[in-house]
Amino acid sequence: MAKSLFQKVAVVGAGTMGNGIAQTFAAYGASVQLVDVDENGLKKGLAAIEGSLARFVKKGTLPEADAKAILARVTPSKELASIRDVELVVEAVVEKPEVKSSVFRQLDAQCPAHTILSSNTSSISITKIAASTKRADRVIGMHFMNPVPLMKLVEVIRGQETSAETTAKVMSASESLEKVPVEASDYPGFVSNRVLMPMINEAVFCLMEGVATREGIDTVMKLGMNHPMGPLALADLIGLDVCLDILEVLHAGLGDDKYRPCPLLRRYVAAGRLGKKSGKGFYEYS
Ligand code: NAD
Repeated sequence: MAKSLFQKVAVVGAGTMGNGIAQTFAAYGASVQLVDVDENGLKKGLAAIEGSLARFVKKGTLPEADAKAILARVTPSKELASIRDVELVVEAVVEKPEVKSSVFRQLDAQCPAHTILSSNTSSISITKIAASTKRADRVIGMHFMNPVPLMKLVEVIRGQETSAETTAKVMSASESLEKVPVEASDYPGFVSNRVLMPMINEAVFCLMEGVATREGIDTVMKLGMNHPMGPLALADLIGLDVCLDILEVLHAGLGDDKYRPCPLLRRYVAAGRLGKKSGKGFYEYS
């Protein structure tokens, strides 16, 4: 089994992405501190890791003893202040610029100089996040895909001041997790969400305008375009609130109305229909 280049890692945020990122580093031998301010969020995150590992065991791709050892390498905490001597932090808190900047400000103040601070942001400017620290050369985007243990891609985003050394280390660190890193420049949505979100948004407009049913829209994209999942089911998996936040960043950052979030997406988020994580989005989940 390959070994993570970084052996001491902290992940901030134990939600959809944070728990998958923590699991992945732990699976490659790293000790991982998993931090979430919300007690319930932390519990759900750990349960998600346990559930995911159990599925690998059931499939016969992971020995039970290894699953136990991976889980034992993840240490949960509610205190951001507990993160100290780590080589890398991956931040995966909510997609809100002010929350991310505040987390980075605190991490910068308490972590040693060698610690690389990375963000799993889907769309927020790495340059802006880095500006809330005094180590902009060691701040970078490390954009994992959902579900992290299965998806190969890591989009590595270089902010304005990110050094070549930091970029090279994070590219190698991604490879050490058997992922495929792709370097991208710091523009809103980078590559992945700049291309994906307008498609999801357009699918929601189609639904709102009654062009087709939710199943119809998803079937067209699956069978007609060979996508493994339809855009509405994918939005449910990502989280409708996360999709809305990303569209807001694209709209504001690129200034083009083609990125304006569909009113139906806003309405679903306002109603608490956040997708799979809340049990209901464009589809219902039990
Ligand atoms: P989520 O809502 O599932 O989880 C966010 C977690 O962060 C919650 O558990 C919350 O309690 C915690 N949190 C909030 N403020 C915090 C703080 N100050 N300190 C510590 N924890 C805090 O969100 P998610 O879907 O996991 O997204 C996290 C990040 O990953 C976002 O930036 C998002 O854009 C990005 N992302 C999401 C996806 C996806 O498919 N959901 C894919 C790639 C990247």
